[in-house]
Amino acid sequence: MSYLKDLPNKEGYFGEFGGAFLPPELEPHFAEIEQAYRRLMRSADFLNELRYIRKHYQGRPTPVYYAHNLSADVGAHLYFKREDLNHSGAHKLNHCMGEALLAKHMGKKKLIAETGAGQHGVALATAAAYFGMECEIHMGEIDIAKEAPNVTRMKLLGANVVPVGFGGCSLKEAVDSAFQSYLSQADEAIFAIGSVVGPHPFPQMVRNFQSVMGLEAREQYLEMTGELPDHVTACVGGGSNALGIFAGFIDDDDVQLHGVEPLGKGTELGQHSATMTFGKPGMIHGFKCLLLSDEEGNPAPVHSIASGLDYPGVGPEHSYLKTSGRVNYHAISDDETLDAFYKISRREGIIPALESAHAIAWAMKFGRENPGTTILANLSGRGNKDIDYVTEHFGHG
Ligand SMILES: *Cc1c(COP(=O)(O)O)cnc(C)c1O
Repeated sequence: MSYLKDLPNKEGYFGEFGGAFLPPELEPHFAEIEQAYRRLMRSADFLNELRYIRKHYQGRPTPVYYAHNLSADVGAHLYFKREDLNHSGAHKLNHCMGEALLAKHMGKKKLIAETGAGQHGVALATAAAYFGMECEIHMGEIDIAKEAPNVTRMKLLGANVVPVGFGGCSLKEAVDSAFQSYLSQADEAIFAIGSVVGPHPFPQMVRNFQSVMGLEAREQYLEMTGELPDHVTACVGGGSNALGIFAGFIDDDDVQLHGVEPLGKGTELGQHSATMTFGKPGMIHGFKCLLLSDEEGNPAPVHSIASGLDYPGVGPEHSYLKTSGRVNYHAISDDETLDAFYKISRREGIIPALESAHAIAWAMKFGRENPGTTILANLSGRGNKDIDYVTEHFGHG
């Protein structure tokens, strides 16, 4: 795995992207996290405990499944990595358990984060309950009203949900609020970022915790078929589930990698969240990446039917992988996503998250255009959180 070892460099750069642009008060705390992570990734105790958790608590390895009905429908071979069967219903727990274990080994007692749709908040609250830690989740008041079931889950899991009522009352303000709170208690707490974004070392750390999916999937796919897939695909919001599954195949030059981002309602700024397709180099939340921005260079408003994908930035490693050409990026619309959401449910008996339906929508489209090809798609999470919204607005398919 030479690639995983070589990138990022010591300062957290993937080519021109990444880095850590922090207020001076936070610099020592991020340096402490980085040193602890570097030490613990070589500690047998740490790695054994993580392995134990993955097997006995999360239920890993999750299966790779041959989607035989959809494969017959499109005329190509589609396989799903079933992260919907990971405990708590999505891939996010893979890095939350890693971050919480790191916090425990650093002697921290509390986990702090922001959440948009509530998925990261739920995964982190789950990890906090497991480790007997406090958990403080900052969430915009608008999101609290929209995502009631996830707020309930976080509270049942014992988290303190802090409503954020200034500015747009949404994700961006929740980030500011969480950082502010972290600043006042950084000796006792750790800030747990929810994707391969944010200042170094988080993009590297979250990718490495998520790489378990790709390493498992490569072995499972080989065992099932005797060869490697022609193509591997995943949806890209911040980019953690994609980098996690790509990590298993990135050194296999014959395997083509495809990230799928949301085209939303169209190509106009504000209608989509297709950062890789339309973004320009910029800065958000303490790191450099491709960014959807307005004329003044500020992060632009974004849209996707999948609330886990509507982020104007993207992980620095994806920004680099696009420039280097190792990964191809494609955009899939809300309508194509909904169509796939219904088809996957009806034909395979799996209700996917709307985020995951983006990747599978692309796999189905590409499979139709390339008969006989083999595609492994990351099914990043289950769709329970989306069924009320989908059926109220679009019916039962
Ligand atoms: C949060 C989320 C995503 C998007 O996040 P990435 O960091 O891009 O993986 C995708 N799928 C599901 C199910 C999610 O909850």
